[in-house]
Amino acid sequence: MVMSKIVVVGSSNTDMVIKSEHLPAPGETILGGEFFMNPGGKGANQAVAAARLGGDVVFVAKVGDDIFGQEAVQGFREAGINTDYIATDPEQPSGVATIMVDNQGENCIAVASGANNALRPEDVDNAMEQIEGADVLLMQLETPIETVEYAAKLGHDKGKTVILNPAPAQVLSDELLARLDVITPNETEAEILTGTQVETLEDAQKAAQVLRERDVGTVIITLGAQGAFVLSDSFSGLVPVRKVNVVDTTAAGDTFNGALAVGMARGMDIEAAVAYANKAAAVSVTRMGAQASAPSLDEVEAED
Ligand code: ADP
Repeated sequence: MVMSKIVVVGSSNTDMVIKSEHLPAPGETILGGEFFMNPGGKGANQAVAAARLGGDVVFVAKVGDDIFGQEAVQGFREAGINTDYIATDPEQPSGVATIMVDNQGENCIAVASGANNALRPEDVDNAMEQIEGADVLLMQLETPIETVEYAAKLGHDKGKTVILNPAPAQVLSDELLARLDVITPNETEAEILTGTQVETLEDAQKAAQVLRERDVGTVIITLGAQGAFVLSDSFSGLVPVRKVNVVDTTAAGDTFNGALAVGMARGMDIEAAVAYANKAAAVSVTRMGAQASAPSLDEVEAED
């Protein structure tokens, strides 16, 4: 099989989840919850999803000098990810998200980005050789925007395929957008980026057009159970996803992006790469977890 080299620049968090009967009100203490600790962070989730599918993945990230960072890096190693460019910040704690979930699935989340906020352009420079040798550069928005902008410029100048998953959503500069080969907002993110409400396929087309006019190469708007809408030079339209029994949609977008990077790095055309990403994300929603739900290559190929 063709090796596909992907550099992911992004966040790593440890999710600390407490599931209880109801969410505590301010000042309230609830006993009797269940605790789970899961690796997370959009960068990490996407890096793991790409590695599971056989991608040759380098993860550029920053963790703190603590047990959370050490465990996260150990997990990336076990997933076969190159961790040589994950720096340890002696002054910042590793990124942590505290999540409270009730029996109905309603949640409350507070994130302390910690070391993720200290990922700087210099850290991207340290991985220059890897970026030069890569097919795809994949990023999200959980690390400082200057770092994302810097990496996008570098990837673009070196002729790499630059993919940005603009999550969590924020308004982006024209300079950054013009350096992106691919942007992958979900419906809410597309709305924040363009000011166009995205509910129907026509809305998706309209929002995608706004981003294309700002010089993004290809716009892919993920549409949950519908699949993804694509607008590019070579293809325009909905790429549908198969119907599945949904168990947990956490990190569906992350699996989609990791798989999209693998498909594009392998040289698939845009429609095929999006179909591949849909296939992987559809498997991931049939089971619990973020990184834990990302499928292997065999599982995705079994879908054919
Ligand atoms: P996010 O998780 O970022 O909000 P979406 O909900 O758009 O993003 O989901 C991302 C991708 O995951 C979709 O494009 C699709 O491939 C897959 N997906 C999400 N929900 C479902 C579903 N209910 N059934 C099948 N695939 C799904």
